[in-house]
Amino acid sequence: MNSTSEGPLGLLDRLARGPLLCAEGYLFELERRGHLQAGAYVPEVVLEHPAEVRALHRQFVHAGSDVVEAFTYYGHREKLRLIGKEDLLEPLNRQALDIAEGVARESGALLAGNICNTNVFDPGDRETSRQVRGMFSEQVAWAAEAGVDFVIGETYSYASEALVALEVVQQAELPAVITLAIHRDPETREGWSPAEACRRLADAGADVVGLNCIRGPATLLPLLADVVAAVDVPVAALPVPYRTTADEPSFQSLRDPSYDGYPGDRPFPTALDPFMCTRYEIADFTRAARELGVSYFGVCCGAGPHHIRSMAEALDRTPPASRYSADMSKHAFLGSDAALKQHNLAYGRSY
Ligand SMILES: [Zn+2]
Repeated sequence: MNSTSEGPLGLLDRLARGPLLCAEGYLFELERRGHLQAGAYVPEVVLEHPAEVRALHRQFVHAGSDVVEAFTYYGHREKLRLIGKEDLLEPLNRQALDIAEGVARESGALLAGNICNTNVFDPGDRETSRQVRGMFSEQVAWAAEAGVDFVIGETYSYASEALVALEVVQQAELPAVITLAIHRDPETREGWSPAEACRRLADAGADVVGLNCIRGPATLLPLLADVVAAVDVPVAALPVPYRTTADEPSFQSLRDPSYDGYPGDRPFPTALDPFMCTRYEIADFTRAARELGVSYFGVCCGAGPHHIRSMAEALDRTPPASRYSADMSKHAFLGSDAALKQHNLAYGRSY
């Protein structure tokens, strides 16, 4: 629902008051938990283990997310066709929206619908634009029926596909958050700079524009200043929580010299653990991006609730999970509390 004078604040009103946090990364987290298959990456978990999806929504809100994003990422017609289960398209989308709505309503968080890259779009083939428009339209219609506050269109490596997504969301008269995926080369697949692509999206009426997924904090951050300068709408930044580098700027391009047995000869996507950012690195990114003028925050594939809490705290929030944020003063070996045993503290200085 959009804001009214009496009702809860909508997306744009909340952004006008300060930064917004939207936890993502459902695909990777539910894969790690053993409820979703890497490879096809279709969110059948929504139908098969709805309680797991509901629990993760709740954990992200507990950690500070202002938004519950319905888990319809890769729940589009092309993905369901790929696994031979097109008949599940509508039930999956409706159930994902229903689960998310429940958590949003109980917590007061915003409810977001979600569409994403289709892997069908080809800028050289006009027929594919028509196809992806159809795929977006059916998902956005279900999201609208579920009463979402806004729709997130994300992870587009073709900005032209993102523009189609934006049009569809606008036709449903819903606010649109549109974010692009920037891979190894710092440009979209059409060859537009992130700033140019975001400017085109903002000019076309997107309410929030920015970048999500693919790049970790270290290689997403350098792209953000130009994006902020190019648009006059709120800018979103949702990195993956991995230690990408100038030489290996995307999580697909990361290589692990300490192990040579990975399937496909690369850590992506199931062996990225050695590259995981700490909560402190996520907090540093959050403060740096805030300084640049970013106002819509999140962490994408790989995020855990501890990353979201850290991001929330870096935005000067104290979400419920902050009740359990680290306090080492009472640690038996590393603490400072007067009640601690001196022989343990002495031992701790060398252990
Ligand atoms: Zn992602």
